[in-house]
Amino acid sequence: MALVVQKYGGTSVGSLDRMKVVAERALRCQRAGNDVVLIVSAMSGETNRLLGMAHQISATPEMREMDVLAATGEQVSAALVAMTVQALGGKARSLLGHQVNIQTDAAFTKARINTIEGSKVRSTLDRGEIAVVAGFQGVDPDGNITTLGRGGSDTSAVAVAAAIKADVCESVTDVDGVYTTDPNVCPSARKIDRISYEEMLELASLGAKVLQIRSVELAMKYGVPIHVRSSFNDNLGTMVTNEEGLESVVVAGVAYDKGEAKVQLINVPDRPGIVAAIFGSLADRNVSVDMIIQSPSREGGTTTDVTFTVAKTDLTRCKNLIEAEARQLGGAAVEYDPDIVKVSIVGLGMRSHAGIASAMFRLLAAEGINIQAISTSEIKVSCLIHSKYTELAVRALHDGFGLDKGPGTAGQG
Ligand code: ASP
Ligand code: MG
Repeated sequence: MALVVQKYGGTSVGSLDRMKVVAERALRCQRAGNDVVLIVSAMSGETNRLLGMAHQISATPEMREMDVLAATGEQVSAALVAMTVQALGGKARSLLGHQVNIQTDAAFTKARINTIEGSKVRSTLDRGEIAVVAGFQGVDPDGNITTLGRGGSDTSAVAVAAAIKADVCESVTDVDGVYTTDPNVCPSARKIDRISYEEMLELASLGAKVLQIRSVELAMKYGVPIHVRSSFNDNLGTMVTNEEGLESVVVAGVAYDKGEAKVQLINVPDRPGIVAAIFGSLADRNVSVDMIIQSPSREGGTTTDVTFTVAKTDLTRCKNLIEAEARQLGGAAVEYDPDIVKVSIVGLGMRSHAGIASAMFRLLAAEGINIQAISTSEIKVSCLIHSKYTELAVRALHDGFGLDKGPGTAGQG
């Protein structure tokens, strides 16, 4: 007998037929003796449809109204799924964000959860009902509806699981689990059985978009195990958990991110404070910079070249700023390159193994791929390369570190 939270994404509740599968699955879990809480997303495409309508009315619709609108998607799903359980002879009750009392701050469209009242969900379970909670939504201190950012139902699920001390938070989705890399790019990608929160955070932030990053942070903070599994079968998926009991493989996964662009400031005066000024003004505009390299200018002398990457979506809004900054710095030239990709290897075992970065550079070199920038953390190495080599690089790293062969062999020796 366990307390199970199951989160269903948009595809899993994408039609009435799919909802029936969800309801049957939840009832099976309940009949096996468990208490079951469902967290549901909006039907697939629905959130985009709603936001699209808002943007037809105005380029800058009011954020408060955006949340009133966007939250309806999950309300529809919660009601329909509860009805489906009832139609199958089960007991269920839908609960909206304010009914579960998911208290958030007032940052509309990207609110953060402050507290949740577990008692509302518990009393539903005590009556033998399946609780069907609308994901993605909460309520601010003034009673306004808020939403938690795109993909926020994952965060709702983990937060509810933490509040009621659930044994597991299942994220039921349209994939079998978390893969060693993107199977669309690399046919030998394998499903990972167990992965640590930390590795998952690095892989998620790098583009393996299975779970909203914030939900993983929250799960790590409260020690909620997440089980990512498919809605199409009963197979075990991937357990995202703390690292105890994990055999720490050197490389757990290979991620890539095409979302960044490279910016190069050429012939910047080599004086204290210059780099601080450039990045200070970007930070003031909330532009986050990822990789940074400073190197002596080709011409030598007293100037330097500063290369960095920013999100492509940020580049459009910071181009003017960068160019103004460059002019102020005595006419430094600016060059942009959007044709780049960041490929990364991630693994807890890197902490205790030397030579992993150099193995990565060798594998890329063997394919004739030039590395434009490098960054490292304790459990990750990233290389910036030309985007035309994305598939080649991902495959070479994935198979080169033995990820095609199964756990435990990765990068040994
Ligand atoms: N429906 C919301 C979205 O599409 C939340 C979610 O699906 O997790 O972003
Ligand atoms: Mg989603």
